[in-house]
Amino acid sequence: MKALIFSQHGTLEQVSIGEVPVPTIAADEVLLQVKAAALNRLDLWVLAGWPALKLKLPHVMGSDGAGIVTAVGANAQHIPLGRRMAVNPTVSCGRCAFCQSGRDHMCDRFAVLGEHRDGFAAEYIAVPAQNLLPLPDHVPYETAAAASLVFVTAWHSLIEVGRLQAGESILIVGAGGGVNSAAIQIARLAGADPIYVVGSNTEKLARAEALGATILINRQQQPDWARAVFQASNRQGVDVVVDNVGAATFHHSLRALKKGGRLLTVGNTSGPKFELDNRLIFARHLQILGSTMGPRQEYAKVMEMVFNGRLQPVIDSIHPLQDGRIALRKLQEGHVSGKLVLIP
Ligand code: ZN
Repeated sequence: MKALIFSQHGTLEQVSIGEVPVPTIAADEVLLQVKAAALNRLDLWVLAGWPALKLKLPHVMGSDGAGIVTAVGANAQHIPLGRRMAVNPTVSCGRCAFCQSGRDHMCDRFAVLGEHRDGFAAEYIAVPAQNLLPLPDHVPYETAAAASLVFVTAWHSLIEVGRLQAGESILIVGAGGGVNSAAIQIARLAGADPIYVVGSNTEKLARAEALGATILINRQQQPDWARAVFQASNRQGVDVVVDNVGAATFHHSLRALKKGGRLLTVGNTSGPKFELDNRLIFARHLQILGSTMGPRQEYAKVMEMVFNGRLQPVIDSIHPLQDGRIALRKLQEGHVSGKLVLIP
């Protein structure tokens, strides 16, 4: 089958469309014919690699996708062939203490499709049956693929970890990324008010406004955006900041918080290592709350809201699978507003 693969870690030069065998399925897995896959910044991190990441190569990229069941393992006979499915990208063992307590996203054998094992940017993928969520006929495969990873991640961070309440103020740092556009919509749904967004240009900010942002700050015009937030909030700061940028912004995000505020983080697009002034944290009673992905029942809950249209993934563009490397380059250069979808 055709797949978007790399055979050694490195840059986009290592990525190609290659021929790999159709995956074999274990007893508790199904074979899915992929109808749509979606890219995440995670794909670029996986391509670059890190010391603890040991992959079977060549590696099939893509952590998001949806498709049709074409074969089922011995322990997955209850899954009907031909069924349309969305897929939770978090793989868990089902047996460890975390899994047994409903925290499968903290599983001792935690894995993500497309990160620790082969992903969706291919004609077929093997996935655990417990990761499947039936996809209603009226919901396009592209929508399910574009929504899965970013919506479960943003939902878990804002609602379960961050305990965002109606009437609280929130600042989302960055306007263009998939998680942030999900976070704006979830904040609006939760009744957060006002919803500040800091963005790099007016186009991205206009899209953030269309999703529910109420106070827009252009960081080209206001480089000291933490101060701008402080002033716009009656010199109080905000209750919650969503910062998935990291090195370039964390210090400013802490400054933008109200006393007792919470900083939520699920990633670091500008780099993972930086210095912090601890006085900002303890003296002002701040909390920094990290998470990654989310448990299965939250995946089902947030996708239900995608299926009924209350939440909508923003899709930048849809490309044939063979243009996968072009799409990855677009993602790397930051020329995207929303998700990039690949069609095998
Ligand atoms: Zn487990």
